[in-house]
Amino acid sequence: MPLLLKGGRVVDPQVGLDGTADVLVAGDRIEAVGVDLELPKDTEVIECAEKVVMPGLVDVHAHLREPGREDEETIASGTRAAAHGGFTAVCAMPNTSPVCDTGSAVRFVIERAEETGAVRVHPVGALTQGQRGEALSEIGDMVAEGAVAFSDDGRDVQDAGMMRRVMEYAKAFGATVIAHCEDEPLVGPGVVNEGAISTRLGLPGWPAAAEETMVARNIRIAELTGCRLHLAHLSTAGSVELVRRAKERGIVVTAEVTPHHLFLDEGALVSYDTNLKMNPPLRTVEDRKALVDGLLEGIIDCIATDHAPHAPHEKELEFEVAPFGTTGLETAVSLVVTHLVAEGMMEWKHVARVMAVAPRRCLNLPEVRLEQGHVADITVVDPEARVEITPEWFYSNSRNCAFVGSKLLGKASEVVVAGRCVVRNGRVIV
Ligand SMILES: [Zn+2]
Repeated sequence: MPLLLKGGRVVDPQVGLDGTADVLVAGDRIEAVGVDLELPKDTEVIECAEKVVMPGLVDVHAHLREPGREDEETIASGTRAAAHGGFTAVCAMPNTSPVCDTGSAVRFVIERAEETGAVRVHPVGALTQGQRGEALSEIGDMVAEGAVAFSDDGRDVQDAGMMRRVMEYAKAFGATVIAHCEDEPLVGPGVVNEGAISTRLGLPGWPAAAEETMVARNIRIAELTGCRLHLAHLSTAGSVELVRRAKERGIVVTAEVTPHHLFLDEGALVSYDTNLKMNPPLRTVEDRKALVDGLLEGIIDCIATDHAPHAPHEKELEFEVAPFGTTGLETAVSLVVTHLVAEGMMEWKHVARVMAVAPRRCLNLPEVRLEQGHVADITVVDPEARVEITPEWFYSNSRNCAFVGSKLLGKASEVVVAGRCVVRNGRVIV
């Protein structure tokens, strides 16, 4: 049935749109964008007055845990969490069990997503076999099966010579390498940012230098090899500065930041809440501000959630042994509206840029535009919706969210994927 998103504020910086208009969807395509559109018979009308209509948001960094840890998340539950959060597509990280390091493993993710997914899933393949950093994985086979980028996320390739070979190999296939920048010997047993807070809490420190040395190394190897490099979840002011200088020198490097690093700092850790234990860790107030500034200035290209579901019996362990990570798909949009848009720091066209346009450019994903003939992947946000993040809020199989208890502003009210409405009035309907 044709669908009309009526009277919303339609925002797409790619086509210079920011004003009240209707969007007509027929089949899997956008039929027209404008006013007083002629409607086909039986068009379903969704009122979007006071709402913002954007190109479908994409999260380039999510852990969907299937295969291997279906108790924590599945492609079915993770894509429903993504839809609930306003995303029309997610990139699935390869640190599953087994690791996604072959063509057949990539095909499994794509087929499961077609069978059970609520939104699009783009698989990311592993750089090295088993993510052990010792031998190249089958990048060519994975590209052929549909992997969109390559990463050993969860770890960094520790050996610089291996990282060089990996980037040379990835470049031959035109693939982007996503680097999780962490020098493991420098981190050691570290679990929180190294500094006054780690001392006060009596927890081992994870120094900023352990990220920054690898950001610098990976940028330098990207320059050497000409490989496209995307830096995952930057967490320090020093990393932002390194990316700024690399971009000034014309190196092809892009970067993402997570909502938790943008909106939380290490001060929150006095609670010893293991949902605040992430890799990289929450940093200082100054780091947090540098990340926000870096995003606003475009040094950091996009927001990605690093959605990392974990089972309760694992997160309920003591801080030092609990796993790293917070879920993020279902809270990202509300956090951005609350802390950036409502505060007057970010305009809607900028939100569309950092959550829909730039992340696709970072990984060379197909463009999504609010323009006639383009595929109808659309996110509608109600900026005035008031949401309270309770344990019942989530469609994810996991509840380990750093923002449980928060009262936020703004919520995805409708989500359209390939012309099909998967979220209506804020609820997932598929
Ligand atoms: Zn990571």
